[in-house]
Amino acid sequence: MNKKKMLSAVLGRLERRYGRNLHTELKHRTASDLFTAVLLSPQCTDKQVNAATRGLFKKYKTFSDYANADPIELEKDLGGLNYYRTKAKHLRRSARMLVEIFDGKVPRTLAEMMVLPGVGRKVGNVVLNEMYGINEGIVVDTHCARVAHRLGLSPSGAPHAVECSLMRIAATKKRGEISNLFIALGRDVCHARTPACAECPLSDLCPSSLLNKGA
Ligand code: SF4
Repeated sequence: MNKKKMLSAVLGRLERRYGRNLHTELKHRTASDLFTAVLLSPQCTDKQVNAATRGLFKKYKTFSDYANADPIELEKDLGGLNYYRTKAKHLRRSARMLVEIFDGKVPRTLAEMMVLPGVGRKVGNVVLNEMYGINEGIVVDTHCARVAHRLGLSPSGAPHAVECSLMRIAATKKRGEISNLFIALGRDVCHARTPACAECPLSDLCPSSLLNKGA
């Protein structure tokens, strides 16, 4: 089976299992909430970010609030998230640029997103997908990278290589869905250490299935 057909078969099965309307588990109500939560998410679980943003979003409601925040107070308000000092600095600087350059609105292209401090491809892709349904790229986190590599859809498990491999075979309108479905499978059964292949809906398709190896 070629990779395009494989991807299509995989997505069909994953849609049946997890549905077609998956979104980020980062809690947010406004554009500034979403941007902030995603910016804070690297090296943290969604649960940790949601715990930290519960109070944060009550206190800081706009990009101007973050831009004008007291640096030390904002560090404390990040609730001890990993790399909270660096994240607080990025958040203040990004918020200032959003206010001064982008008129207080999150831009709609990855190139513009990536001029903001702390915003790399992953953060930019998540925000664009969730906020505008724009999929210039594909969000590749550790779950998505692992699943794509194990399924043989990418020769490498490195995030950028996985994104390039998936972009070559995926229709633009499917890019957001691929990421969300692969992340769901990674969390559910395709665990990093020992995948639960016996419970996986892709076990007969997957070249890495432990079942196919008689394990
Ligand atoms: S069959 Fe196993 S290795 Fe392959 S995707 Fe499913 S859980 Fe992961």
